[in-house]
Amino acid sequence: MTQEKTRILISGASIAGPTLAYWLHKHGFKVTIVEKAPSLRLGGQSIDASGPARPIARWMGIEDEIRAVGSNEVGIQWVDRHNRVAAAFAGDHPLSITDEMEILRGDLVNILYEHTRQNVTYRFNTQISQLEQNDEQVRVTFSDGQQETYELVIAADGIRSKTRKLMFNDESVFKYLGLCVAYLTIPRTETDTSWARWYTANKSRILLLRPDSKGTTRASFFFLYPPAAFEKLDPHDQKQLLVQKLSDAGWEASRLTEALEKGEEYYFDGIGQIKAPHWFRGRLGMIGDAAYCPSPLTGKGVTLAMVGAYLLAGELSRHERYQDAFASYEKLMRPYVESVQRLPPGVPHLLYPTTATGVAIINKLAGLISSKAVKKVMNRFRPSTVQDENQLNGIELPRYGF
Ligand SMILES: Cc1cc2nc3c(=O)[nH]c(=O)nc-3n(C[C@H](O)[C@H](O)[C@H](O)COP(=O)(O)OP(=O)(O)OC[C@H]3O[C@@H](n4cnc5c(N)ncnc54)[C@H](O)[C@@H]3O)c2cc1C
Repeated sequence: MTQEKTRILISGASIAGPTLAYWLHKHGFKVTIVEKAPSLRLGGQSIDASGPARPIARWMGIEDEIRAVGSNEVGIQWVDRHNRVAAAFAGDHPLSITDEMEILRGDLVNILYEHTRQNVTYRFNTQISQLEQNDEQVRVTFSDGQQETYELVIAADGIRSKTRKLMFNDESVFKYLGLCVAYLTIPRTETDTSWARWYTANKSRILLLRPDSKGTTRASFFFLYPPAAFEKLDPHDQKQLLVQKLSDAGWEASRLTEALEKGEEYYFDGIGQIKAPHWFRGRLGMIGDAAYCPSPLTGKGVTLAMVGAYLLAGELSRHERYQDAFASYEKLMRPYVESVQRLPPGVPHLLYPTTATGVAIINKLAGLISSKAVKKVMNRFRPSTVQDENQLNGIELPRYGF
């Protein structure tokens, strides 16, 4: 495509949108991002830019910044209701959730914004309300009534994307996984250390407390919840349900209840995946969670968002026709997305015992798996060369001339 004449509009200023904008600008395109919120949304827990997102971060020149503001978490401990450690997975354990490139979501959003804002037009408090495309362009109507034309429009506005609905009539399927989550930030107390602490309660509940680099603690509360009941929950029901589920969970659950009762901000949603049969329709397309959210259970939301953004920009730069770029991108990306979205059998349900005996068994198993002997065996299968790493990452990234 003739880069300097191609204006591309992106909806969503989180991870996927700004990463796409960064690479599109590098390839010479003109980019505008609209974001529904009045400013960057900096909430969220620790996330990691792992696997193939790591070289992309390196090529963007942000790898060191990510490491510098990292969460300083040293690993994860499984604890019982008396806070006794049943198992510990240090950061270098193959099964630890603590990644070398662990960072608070808001810090990563800030870094991406700082690296794009000079060359990309950002418009906050704005969303797309109508899209009409023809052979030459897309006419976009914004929420403030303004109209503009672009050559391409890409939705990067997350799992609940409204732009996706405008583009595809929401033919994509949100597949609920039977699990709800609440995220909130709570005051740090003396029981908090540099370890993340994972507590399994009976009645299919898990509480995770993780240190952050801001002097507070990031709490996540997960519990199994049936699909039919989940669909009926309004925000008032959600809060009531949370308080009720926390009430007899034990351990440090009352810290979350206190924060909720004080009216602290929290995020609540059902955990699910987006499985979209099409990612493109004419000049319209989508990336990141809007197109293929893998769910937090995979730990790969950021990775997919960054890889998808990098590849889409690269394919647009090397094809004359956007149709060929979209097709080529999808050929590279779809098998990778499908492999990431494939959850191991029994996940999430096996991790959520209903009885106290089930909890004791799962803690015992965690203790065995965290042993030095198991770690040694698992390390034998770790990649030792760059080529192995590519295989492990599940996708090879073209360099697109850089
Ligand atoms: C506030 C917030 C907190 C999160 N916390 C966590 C977390 O703790 N753990 C975790 O694993 N994942 C979390 N996520 C999701 C995580 O960011 C994504 O899974 C992943 O990074 C992929 O990012 P994305 O850019 O595709 O989508 P998202 O990160 O979901 O970003 C979508 C962006 O689009 C904006 N947007 C939404 N609708 C519109 C619209 N109609 N027009 C314009 N803009 C719109 C949103 O405000 C947001 O900035 C969070 C997302 C958000 C928005």
